[in-house]
Amino acid sequence: MKDLLKSVGQDYLLDSVSTLKGIGPKSSKTLSQASIESVLDLLLLLPRKYKRRDRWLKVDKRLLPRTVTIEVLIKNHIYPKNRRSPLRISAETYGSPLIILLFSFNKAQLNNYYPPGENIVISGDLTLDGSKLTMIHPDYSVKPDEIYKIPEIEPIYPSVYGLGNKFLQKTVGNIINVINDLNPIPEWYPKKFIQAKNWPSFSKALSLIHMPKDNKDLSCIIKARKRLIFDEFYAHHIKLDKFRRSAKKKEGFKVEGDKFLIKNLINNLSFQLTKGQLNALYEILDDVESEPKMNRLLQGDVGSGKTIVALLVAMFVVSGGYQVAIMAPTEVLAMQHAKSLKDVLRAQEINKLNVTILTGSDNRSEREKKLLLISCGEAKIVIGTHALFQRNVHFHNLRLAVIDEQHKFGVMQRFRLEKKGNVNSIIMSATPIPRSLALTVFSDRDLTTIKEKPKNRLSIETLAISVKKIRKLLDKLAKQMSEGQQVYWVCPLIEENEKNHLSNSNDRFLYLRNEFSQFKVGLVHGQMPSEDKESELKKFNERKIDILVSTTVIEVGIDNPNATAIVIENANRFGLSQLHQLRGRVGRGDKKSYCFLVYDGNLSDQAIQRLKIMKDTQDGFEIAEKDMALRGSGDLLGTMQSGHKIFKLSEVMEEPELFLEAYKLAQDTKTALPKRS
Ligand code: ADP
Ligand code: MG
Repeated sequence: MKDLLKSVGQDYLLDSVSTLKGIGPKSSKTLSQASIESVLDLLLLLPRKYKRRDRWLKVDKRLLPRTVTIEVLIKNHIYPKNRRSPLRISAETYGSPLIILLFSFNKAQLNNYYPPGENIVISGDLTLDGSKLTMIHPDYSVKPDEIYKIPEIEPIYPSVYGLGNKFLQKTVGNIINVINDLNPIPEWYPKKFIQAKNWPSFSKALSLIHMPKDNKDLSCIIKARKRLIFDEFYAHHIKLDKFRRSAKKKEGFKVEGDKFLIKNLINNLSFQLTKGQLNALYEILDDVESEPKMNRLLQGDVGSGKTIVALLVAMFVVSGGYQVAIMAPTEVLAMQHAKSLKDVLRAQEINKLNVTILTGSDNRSEREKKLLLISCGEAKIVIGTHALFQRNVHFHNLRLAVIDEQHKFGVMQRFRLEKKGNVNSIIMSATPIPRSLALTVFSDRDLTTIKEKPKNRLSIETLAISVKKIRKLLDKLAKQMSEGQQVYWVCPLIEENEKNHLSNSNDRFLYLRNEFSQFKVGLVHGQMPSEDKESELKKFNERKIDILVSTTVIEVGIDNPNATAIVIENANRFGLSQLHQLRGRVGRGDKKSYCFLVYDGNLSDQAIQRLKIMKDTQDGFEIAEKDMALRGSGDLLGTMQSGHKIFKLSEVMEEPELFLEAYKLAQDTKTALPKRS
C-alpha cells in the first residue's frame, strides 16, 4: 500500500512509528518484532473484537455478567488481613450493595479514584457473587461529570508482545485524529466504485474500525474492513503489474544458446516429448533469447512433465555460457531433479558439465568448496533448496532461476535468488488453475501451460470407500505390496489443532503397523524435524518402506513410479484440486494405479458430486474449473498460496472474490493512478 500512499502524497503515514508521540525506542522495538514499522502498519493492526460498555441507570441482575458503566456511591475501604487477598471496597449502586475488588492498587491514589462518601462512575465486568454485585478491577473510575471519558465501545487489539490495549488505543486514536483533522486521505480509485459498493472512504473506514462511537458505527465495521482488505489486494495487484512492466523494459537478460544441442538432447531422450511440452519449450526459449527479463509461470497438470522442459531450458542457457539455479523446497526433490538431469544428459558427457547440489546438509568444508565453484562460474547448474538464496552464495553469471513447487517459497525468497544476477525466471506450479485465475494471482508473470499428458499414462482407477469397509481395502493393499508395489496413506488434518492431527496420523500408523506386520510401514507428519521427514521420504523412494503414512500434502512433487496406490482418508475434507494433486503421486510408472477415497459417515449431496467428479475426471484443468464452480475460487487459491503470509489484513483464500475484483479494478485503473505532484 506504500506506493498508493505515496501516489497521493501521504508519505507521513510511511514514517517510522518511532516518530509518534508516546513511542520511545522500547515500544518501537516491540512493535517491530510484530512487523509494525511504519505508521501505516500500525493503522493496519485491526482490533480483534470490540468491548461494549452498556451505560446502566439501574441494575438488572438477570442480564449479568456484563460489561457496564454505572454510578456508585463509595462507602469504605476494607484492607485485607494477608497480602494475597484483595482490597475490598464496599459501595452502593442504585440502592444495591456492591463490592469492588482490587488485587493491586496504589495506596496514594486510592482516595482519588475511590473517594469514600462520594459518587463516582465506574466501568468494568459486573458479576454476581452469590447474590452480591461484584466488580473486579474496574477499567475506569471517573467523576460523574467526566463520564464522557469512558468509551461506549472499545476496540480490543491483538496482543502485541505485551503492549497494553489502552496504549494501542491511544496511539492509534491519535493518528486517526490527525488524519481526520488535517489530512483526509484522497481515494486512489474511482469514487463511483466505492459508492456502488456502499463503502466508507479510506479515512472513514479507519476511524470506524479503530474508534467506533456507537452501535451504528459497529454495524458499518464489516464494510469498513472489506474496504481495507480490498485496498490491500488492490495495492498488491498494482505493484505486481508495475513490476511486470519494469521487468519488460530491463535489458541484459538475453541468452544466445545452442539450439542444435537442445534438438540433440530431445532426440536422445528415452521418451518422446509431447506436443504440449515442445510448445512450452519453444515458447520459453523464444523469451530467453530476447533482451528483456523473462518472468514466467510454467503450469501443467501433475505428471505432465514440467521438469524436463525446465531442464532443457536450463541446458540452453548453459550452452550460452551462463549459470542456472534450480531450486526445490526439499532435499529429496532437489536430488530427484539432479537425477532427472542425468537422465536427460545420458547421451552427453555429463562430467563436462559441473552440476553442483547445494543443500542445508552439506558440511562446512563441502559447502565452502561448492561456494567457490559457484562463484568462479565453474558450477554451471546449481540444484538446491533454500540454501540457494542465502547471502553468502555468489554466482559468476547466473542467468536463469527455475523454482519448482513455487508455493512453498515466499515471494521475497524468490526475489532474493533472482537478485543474484541478470536472472530470467521460471516458476512452476503443481496446481493447474484456470487461466483467468492464474493471471490474477501471478499478474507479474507470463504464462506457459502444458495442456496434455504423455500418452503412455494409464488412468488411475479412483474408488470411494466407506471407512466401514476398511478391511477389504487392507486386503487389496496387501496384495499390491506383496507384488512389490508401494502405497501412500494420507490422513487429513481434522482440525487446525495440530495435536489432534498428530495423534491422528500416529494412530493410523500404529494401526497399520499392526495390520501389516509383514510389511514396512513409515510415517511422516508436519511436526517432525525436516531431516527426519526427508530421510523417511528417501527410504520410501529407495523402496525400503512399503507403505507411507503422512499428513496432508507433505511433498507434492515426489516422483516414485513404483507407488501404485494412494489412500486418502476423510477425502471429503479436501478440495478437489488438492485431491487431484495427491492422486498424482501415483500412476507415474507403467503399472495400473489406484486412488482410494475413504469417507466416514453419510455424505452430503455435494460430497457425492465431488467424489463423482474425481472418479470421472483425470484432467487437472477440468477439475480446477469444476472445483471453482462448486466451491468458488477460495479453495484453489488456498492450495496455491499456502504457508506464506503476504497480506496483513486477510488471506486470498478468505476473500477470493474481493481478490479477483481488486485485480479487475487494478487492470482498469492502473494507468489512471494519480501522479505525484
Ligand atoms: P510434473 O509436471 O508433475 O512435475 P514430472 O516432470 O515430474 O511431472 O514428470 C513426471 C514423470 O514423467 C517423470 O518421471 C518424467 O521423466 C516422465 N516424463 C516426462 N515427460 C514425458 C514424456 N513425454 N513421455 C513419457 N514420460 C515423461
Ligand atoms: Mg514436478
